[in-house]
Amino acid sequence: MTGQLRVGRVKEVTSLSNPLVKDLKALALKKFRDQQNAFMAEGLKLVIDALDLGWRVKTLVFAKSALGNPAVEKVAARTVAAGGDVLEVSEKILAAITRRDNPQTVVGVFEQRFLKLTDIRPAPGDVWVGLDRVRDPGNLGTVLRTVDAVGAKGIILVGDTTDPFGLETVRATMGSIFAVPVARATQEAFLAWRMGFAGLVAGTHLKGAVDYRSVDYAKKPVLLLMGNEQQGLPDALAETCDKLVRIPQAGRADSLNLAVATGVMLFEIRRAALTLATDE
Ligand code: SAM
Repeated sequence: MTGQLRVGRVKEVTSLSNPLVKDLKALALKKFRDQQNAFMAEGLKLVIDALDLGWRVKTLVFAKSALGNPAVEKVAARTVAAGGDVLEVSEKILAAITRRDNPQTVVGVFEQRFLKLTDIRPAPGDVWVGLDRVRDPGNLGTVLRTVDAVGAKGIILVGDTTDPFGLETVRATMGSIFAVPVARATQEAFLAWRMGFAGLVAGTHLKGAVDYRSVDYAKKPVLLLMGNEQQGLPDALAETCDKLVRIPQAGRADSLNLAVATGVMLFEIRRAALTLATDE
């Protein structure tokens, strides 16, 4: 069926073949996310956080079962006020657009946002993370969440990476996608930008000769560079680092998972800045 207009711009959609539903389902693919300059975030709390942080909502989708929930109605009103559309759909439709058996009752479609590399102006104490060709959406999402948790400033995606606005990545960020600025650059553009970076560039490498705990990360801005899951940092990126550090390991594993290694590094780099008091 075609959407039936209810209050203002709220439409009730019941058919999987509705073109609005097709557009939402297409957001599972990067090509269509880029075409629509949009991405999907699931859950009422995430949608509220995103609106509070100033992200532009294009569409709010909610299940019939959420009707009457004051928080959902408030979010719907905010969406309409921001010029977005509100769709009331069946659970079957929510399952189809989120590709989940037990979908959340609220889904928001937001405009994508990237930070320009040239707009990054690192100050002393700032920490940025460069991810070389990160492939795994779960890793990228987990790194975004960890960057948020430690109070680092943002992420620079270097080369051909997985999409930060993919459904799986956004899910793994648990909302941090809305809190952490993401820039992207080719390796060449990144290397050129790095020349103007007046801070410490610390690369992580399995051949690194420096114990990651022996470096003084204080005062200057720090750029932490992490390598691709399969190949590690290529020579061009390794050579641009001021230090190549290694996390000592025991046991049979050759290396740590990328997101785990990033977490270990970030908590060391931010050690002095993080106290239980910062947590309150
Ligand atoms: N086979 C890859 C290699 O030779 O580098 C393994 C890559 S590892 C799964 C992904 C990234 O995590 C590495 O490029 C590095 O940035 C970081 N990493 C993992 N374990 C590390 C360790 N023990 N010390 C330093 N960095 C590590």
